[in-house]
Amino acid sequence: MAINIILLGPPGAGKGTQAKKLVEERGMVQLSTGDMLRAARSSGTEMGNRVAEVMDRGELVTDEIVIGLIREKLEEGGNGFIFDGFPRTLAQADALGDLLVEMGMKLDAAIELKVDDEALVARIVKRAEDSRAAGEPVRKDDTPEVFADRLREYYKKTAPLLGYYYAKGDLQQVDGMAAMDQVAAQIGAVLGS
Ligand code: AMP
Repeated sequence: MAINIILLGPPGAGKGTQAKKLVEERGMVQLSTGDMLRAARSSGTEMGNRVAEVMDRGELVTDEIVIGLIREKLEEGGNGFIFDGFPRTLAQADALGDLLVEMGMKLDAAIELKVDDEALVARIVKRAEDSRAAGEPVRKDDTPEVFADRLREYYKKTAPLLGYYYAKGDLQQVDGMAAMDQVAAQIGAVLGS
């Protein structure tokens, strides 16, 4: 039976890193709206151009756009999905619930990666340094200034989802401050491996 999970947590919590491990180890499909939006920007689609400024300010793009992206990907099918960076608002969470019902799928868990704010800022600075050192493009929103805005958006619009999924009995918390492999092991325990 395919497992579908949401990875919740602030920017820099390690959602993308853990999602990639799950893809490698379990053949799940990572659905990162951030990656989809960045791809739309770099290929210069009309939608990509429209959201570029919003992303660079560290704000959220409209629910309609990201829900549309997720719908397209779900319709392509896959062996268990990892929702990474989606949902980020209560409206997105409701829309995801409706989409899953429509497709005859269910959510197995919403896993929160808990990380202190100070550690997040340090991780973002490091992510930018690592990209620069590797000669890769540095994300425009990985500066300490924009990061502060992204974190505010998280607390204002996304953190309420913790209560939303807790109330549904779907919330599971893992210590995102632990080493990468230990975080992966905690997630594995939640998924029952
Ligand atoms: P991420 O890579 O998940 O940190 O996302 C980078 C940026 O893309 C965010 O700061 C938002 O501007 C935008 N974004 C990604 N996912 C969403 C979402 N689910 N809802 C709204 N905006 C999003």
